[in-house]
Amino acid sequence: MIESSALFIAAKPIIQKIIDHGYEAYFVGGAVRDSLLNKPVSDVDIATSATPLEIKAIFTKTFDVGIEHGTVLVYEQGVGYEITTFRTESNYEDFRHPSSVSFVRSLEEDLKRRDFTINALALSIDDRVIDYFGGQEDLARQLLRSVGLAQERFSEDALRMFRAIRFVSQLDFAVDPETIEAIRLLKANLSHVAVERIQVEWVKTLVGPARNRAIKLLVDTGLYEYCPKLADQKENLLSFSENTFPQLSTFQAWVLLCHYLGFHSENVRPFLKAWKLSNKVLDETQAGLGLLHERFTRKWNFFMAFSHPLHVSLEVEALLPSLGYQDESQFLENVYKELPIESLKQLAFNGKDIQELLNLKKSGPIIGQSLTYLKNAVLNQEVKNTKEDLQDYLLSADFIKNLYH
Ligand code: ATP
Ligand code: MG
Repeated sequence: MIESSALFIAAKPIIQKIIDHGYEAYFVGGAVRDSLLNKPVSDVDIATSATPLEIKAIFTKTFDVGIEHGTVLVYEQGVGYEITTFRTESNYEDFRHPSSVSFVRSLEEDLKRRDFTINALALSIDDRVIDYFGGQEDLARQLLRSVGLAQERFSEDALRMFRAIRFVSQLDFAVDPETIEAIRLLKANLSHVAVERIQVEWVKTLVGPARNRAIKLLVDTGLYEYCPKLADQKENLLSFSENTFPQLSTFQAWVLLCHYLGFHSENVRPFLKAWKLSNKVLDETQAGLGLLHERFTRKWNFFMAFSHPLHVSLEVEALLPSLGYQDESQFLENVYKELPIESLKQLAFNGKDIQELLNLKKSGPIIGQSLTYLKNAVLNQEVKNTKEDLQDYLLSADFIKNLYH
């Protein structure tokens, strides 16, 4: 199976080249785990005994992406590969950043610093799996277990506790009791971790196939108490974890989460800001939440269709059955097909036309007001979208008539 993965095959010449220069190099991390699970592999990481400078001397096209952590990006045949020097980390005084990173020449040392046994596997160029901590056995038993003592490992880096939740969602594995106990004990340390790092794991948790089990574990361990604005949301999180929608997109995940947490489009922004979402995601989530709630009380109409892109509407619509409402995607698509206009630009009477019609010297608020008035009329099917009809319609509007009195 591993051999048949195109990504590994493509990357083998890189490993070979490093070996030819007298160093060790292996595939490591998630790609090894996923290929052993017969899951699709999206990117491969390479670990090596060569230092970043030594790697840069071997390859012609390299890019420093995190050289202080030992990572160099190498380009071969147009594809970028992250190559990271074997390293150990020590003295995590603040529960989040190693105070020093030392490069080492030993693969075992490097694997020892990794979070879980299933993530601490390496694969050699001749397809041997290197497994110092029983990772393959844990894969077979479907068990998530810390490398070494869970308490120690979570004290070094508190994010690992949340990563455990994330891997439960992605893999639907059980968690070793000692690892769970360590989360219960050290959960408060999560508050020292940058929200951006937690967010990455939270999104992966929300979109994973076993998110409900993962969210239950998040609640059960008490780790949720130290997540942004979740501390008082225990019951709502548990309700969310009963939702039967199979696998959410990132967009759907935020919308559905916010719905279960009791937010509305008017008051959701502080929550999303606390999770450090980009303005784009924030706006999209807010709009999606508004649309979801609008659908609880209203059938699809031209106004709703005009206000949201079709793909967004379909994603929101798909959530409805899991909330006890009927999915009317077919009807929705027909509404979009029959939309008289898809944007203001498609109005047959534009701002310039209005300016001329009203004989205005320069553009003013009346133009925007007129455009909105015409758009609403077209969407309400009170007037046809032709230049003449729109002109007559506008001239008969009270707010326009009043201009001349
Ligand atoms: P994914 O497929 O979602 O990328 P992954 O296992 O590759 O999963 P990454 O976050 O990309 O996860 O990390 C790559 C590898 O680096 C992990 O498999 C693990 O060995 C190691 N790792 C990442 N974060 C940590 C951490 N906080 N503590 C210890 N090891 C870590
Ligand atoms: Mg990865």
